[in-house]
Amino acid sequence: MLQQTQVDRVALYYERFLKAFPSVRALARAPLDDVLKQWEGLGYYGRARSLVKAARVIAERPDAAIPATVEGLRELPGFGPYTAAAVASIAFGVAVPALDTNVLRVLARLFAVDGAVTEAATRRRLETHAHTLLDSARPGDFNQAMMELGAMVCGARSPRCLLCPVSRVCRARALGDPARWPAESPKARRPMVHAACAIVERNRKWLVVQRPETGLLGGLWEFPGARMVDGESPEAACVRGVLEKTGVTVRPGAPLVAVRHTFSHFHVTLHAIVCRAPRGRIAHERAAWRTFDEIDALALTRTARKVLTRLRDVNERRKSVPKSATPLR
Ligand code: SF4
Repeated sequence: MLQQTQVDRVALYYERFLKAFPSVRALARAPLDDVLKQWEGLGYYGRARSLVKAARVIAERPDAAIPATVEGLRELPGFGPYTAAAVASIAFGVAVPALDTNVLRVLARLFAVDGAVTEAATRRRLETHAHTLLDSARPGDFNQAMMELGAMVCGARSPRCLLCPVSRVCRARALGDPARWPAESPKARRPMVHAACAIVERNRKWLVVQRPETGLLGGLWEFPGARMVDGESPEAACVRGVLEKTGVTVRPGAPLVAVRHTFSHFHVTLHAIVCRAPRGRIAHERAAWRTFDEIDALALTRTARKVLTRLRDVNERRKSVPKSATPLR
């Protein structure tokens, strides 16, 4: 949960998650929908899917035990080098450094290593330095201390050198201007993507679809639609997306709302359009008609949750779904 996410944000989710799935076996038995619901709002849903997959792999092992080596952990879904090293050292006392962004920054400053930490050569140098520092008797404590130092003292923009327990041996501090390290990584520009979704109602139920289990936001629910291709209008994308994902043909009406969200690699603007569905039966197993309360209980994408909130507002004000074109302010 802590990958790419701050402790404050994670704390509540963590406690709720452990209550819902108190053991590896409980997690292995849980339907993915339930796990995603617990995860909703935390982002990076691939982590939740990987956790379930890893729990299932562990539950099928003869001893149902979590592997105690870096190599064994790396075989589990979702365990990259950092997670495997962190778990191996903290849970099993394996002498291996765990290098997250914070730790890499501390190392770059301690040894005044030039080059961006995203470059393989810089990373190798930092890893070598980490091995020289590692306390092999207490690797878990060492790694956590380094993580904490990076998070609490050696901040990215303003290192608090006066409070730092290792300031005496820090080369970046000795050279002055420690925030110069590490060198900035070249930033990739995030493109803006436009997509459209249809708000379709029949008998007080709305059409929703579940995303495929693999890929971005896998397993989450949303209103059906599609990414807009060059020159395509939101209305046309709605009609195309709904037909592809549900088998239902819709007639677009008024825009309901446009919501924005930023993913790690792109921004998205989702145009929600109120549509009518004069004909067509659902022809896909991942599509369904659901009431407001049922939709509320699903694990929704962040954009679908924003659209649902707006839809509820409009619905409560009008006591019925908007069916004709109404310009929105
Ligand atoms: Fe970071 Fe300053 Fe400590 Fe060096 S002395 S590790 S720059 S906080």
